[in-house]
Amino acid sequence: MQTTNYPAEPYKIKVVEPIAMTTRQQRAQYLRDAGYNTFLINSEQCYIDLLTDSGTTAMSDKQWAGMMLGDEAYAGSKNFLHLQATVREYYGFKHIIPTHQGRGAENLLSRLCIKPGDVVPGNMYFTTTRAHQELNGAKFVDIIIDEAHDSQADVPFKGNVDLEKLQKLIDEVGPERIPYVCVAVTVNLAGGQPVSMENLRAVHALCAPLGIKVMFDATRCVENAYFIKTREPSCADKSIREILKEMMSYADGCTMSGKKDCLVNIGGFLCMNDDKLYQRASELVVLFEGMPSYGGLAGRDMEAMARGIKESVDFHYIEHRIAQCRYLADRLEAAGVPIVRPVGGHAVFLDARAFLDHIPQDEFPAQTLAAQLYLESGVRSMERGIVSAGRNKETGDHHRPKLELVRLTIPRRVYTYAHLDVVAQSCINLYARRREIGGMKMVYEPAFLRFFTARFEPLPVKTPAAPAERVTELETA
Ligand SMILES: *Cc1c(COP(=O)(O)O)cnc(C)c1O
Repeated sequence: MQTTNYPAEPYKIKVVEPIAMTTRQQRAQYLRDAGYNTFLINSEQCYIDLLTDSGTTAMSDKQWAGMMLGDEAYAGSKNFLHLQATVREYYGFKHIIPTHQGRGAENLLSRLCIKPGDVVPGNMYFTTTRAHQELNGAKFVDIIIDEAHDSQADVPFKGNVDLEKLQKLIDEVGPERIPYVCVAVTVNLAGGQPVSMENLRAVHALCAPLGIKVMFDATRCVENAYFIKTREPSCADKSIREILKEMMSYADGCTMSGKKDCLVNIGGFLCMNDDKLYQRASELVVLFEGMPSYGGLAGRDMEAMARGIKESVDFHYIEHRIAQCRYLADRLEAAGVPIVRPVGGHAVFLDARAFLDHIPQDEFPAQTLAAQLYLESGVRSMERGIVSAGRNKETGDHHRPKLELVRLTIPRRVYTYAHLDVVAQSCINLYARRREIGGMKMVYEPAFLRFFTARFEPLPVKTPAAPAERVTELETA
């Protein structure tokens, strides 16, 4: 029975994990100690932790039971055989090599396929994926549709590959310089936006005759399958499992971070159909991860992942996950809080540029908003704006990205709608008193990936407190 637009949790609670209830005064101290950077706050100081959905999943009773069945033999563990059979059945690829997490698979794939001077087209970059491509001498070229770069463009498959951009690139550099096309399903950095089945089919049809491989970043493939089912009429009657398998039939292999859609806390894998590539990958994995039958994972981790893969294709699970994102977004939008549309599969993004429009980008509006949200209610989020973008290596100046966002990432099966009400209400309260919030200055800047460890101090509020617009208190949906 469904009583609202948002289906209730398709699970019940067997084990609970108490979370910290803190006072505003305590949070103010924790925030100062952390240099106003949410990455530097301790987990135990957070009430609702929306920093990331990576590895933060709650495993099921069946997965925990599977952990006790770990076969920790050095070679040929039965849990590997279970994982191998499961991936073959649900994803359809011939070969699988486990890795410690997604980037382990990206490292192997990039080393095996890329020569210096190659070009790897992709539907927007992901940090670790692009880093490994570049480390091996390739140039990444973005071939996502233009709408993906516009925070307000409301199109159903905002992660699609622009086939004309891809064709033009192939004509320019020649197919022999393109080791593979990397297609992410869904696109994390575009806000968890999906790729349509039609588009996946078309990319495959364009590449296969030219001998160009298509490799998926399958990290969020189940979320993508849900969007296909609900937005692509020709797939409406297919199950998530059928859609997933068809999606994968348009790829020659994939990298996978199990910490996302495989519902585990650690793990990943690399898949391929090509026997020769598998042969080379099983030689290389020994150097970086371990034997091809464990790749940096314990037997129990592989068992949990095999079980997670089976659970992940349950329609009610994925429907609820996506509905949680939609619920939070709908509550925020109803109160006029600026967010990115459409809502993707794993997070809601606050548009900090619009939220704190009196704070110049050089005073870090998104970083400020993330800090203030923590102070308000103990909700931890992540900056995705000028701090994350880093500096231009040549000029030394900040990169100034168009999007200045705060990511509220929803862990899988961890929080309830009541938690999301707290998150929404805190954002709404902050929005009402946004004119009282001043920017920040950076007082410590590390050399690399500065967003992880940079420290800040608040600046005085410059603008005379303009009367804040009235924000209507939210009625229950
Ligand atoms: C998390 C992620 C990765 C990297 O996976 P790790 O398990 O964190 O190494 C790659 N691609 C996408 C889209 C991701 O979200």
